[in-house]
Amino acid sequence: MFCLLCNSEEKLFDGLCKNCYVKEFELIQVPEYVTFMVCSHCGATLKHDKWIQTAYYDDEIINDAIQKDITVNEKLKDAEITTEILTNRGTMYDCIIHANGQVLEEFIEKEYPIEVKVEKGVCPDCSKFYSGYYEAVIQLRADNRKLEDEEIKNADKFISSEIQRLCKTNKLAYVTERIVLKEGIDYQVGSHNAAHKIAENMQKQFGGIITESRKIVGHDKSKSKDLYRSWISVRLPSFHKNDFIEYKDNILMIEKIGSHKFVGRNLDRYESESISWKEYDKIKKVGNTEDVKVTTVTNVTPTEIQVLDPDNYSTVDLKKNDNLENINIGQEINVIKFKNKIYILI
Ligand SMILES: [Zn+2]
Ligand SMILES: [Zn+2]
Repeated sequence: MFCLLCNSEEKLFDGLCKNCYVKEFELIQVPEYVTFMVCSHCGATLKHDKWIQTAYYDDEIINDAIQKDITVNEKLKDAEITTEILTNRGTMYDCIIHANGQVLEEFIEKEYPIEVKVEKGVCPDCSKFYSGYYEAVIQLRADNRKLEDEEIKNADKFISSEIQRLCKTNKLAYVTERIVLKEGIDYQVGSHNAAHKIAENMQKQFGGIITESRKIVGHDKSKSKDLYRSWISVRLPSFHKNDFIEYKDNILMIEKIGSHKFVGRNLDRYESESISWKEYDKIKKVGNTEDVKVTTVTNVTPTEIQVLDPDNYSTVDLKKNDNLENINIGQEINVIKFKNKIYILI
């Protein structure tokens, strides 16, 4: 028996002498080209069945694309396959595969050219965005009153800047639709997580109460779980700064609206009180600056201040305290009247 290529009479392997066998040995089988998927909307690439956001097609993605489609000759021992990008023309990469290993106890290495093409696709997040998918609705409302134009403008601005911040890490952080309703504004948000964060931050910024409810809107058969949609209501308080509220039988003038609490000045004790938003349902708005009236001090004694009732000009004696020390007869002062009781505003 002779070697088919060189007629050598040595021991043969598949009809070839060792020398020819090693020379002809193909370390790997390489297709004409391989591809990897890129989302044509956001540029995310598909890597190990996961869409990831990369600014450029990194060597690793191209290496993965090549490795998954080549077949290593099973007779090759200690195989080592590395890839290298030579040139890039648009959506095409010319690459070279460096392969080495051992066959018949001989170390061999060889290079194989390969083309890597970019395949355009749509990632699931983009397909959700383009189909108008949303997981949550932020419902902007005002309690017991209409939203003011200024409040709507501020909320729009706030939500848009929150979205810009969150979308860097959450691709479902988008507003598919903003719907103007009689009772307020609905913002449909792609991601429930994003909507939840935005609502919380809105409450911190504008005060008020958040309530959330959810409904089953479908079923994901592939994951065999129910799909939910949430309605997150951000209810702005019925009052503004300088409005008057009733809380635990006291009248307070609102001084500050904060994230966890609001502060009111108690008109009986002339002290500021912080009230948690959890108490919100126990308060009632009773008036605003338009209810403030001017009246005249008609007498001052060590214990009492006498003023004219702004409604009927009868005299009323009010208890004096340290805060009212500087009030004099004849002085014009601001008062407010609730349930037939007059409060001096200082
Ligand atoms: Zn030979
Ligand atoms: Zn995408």
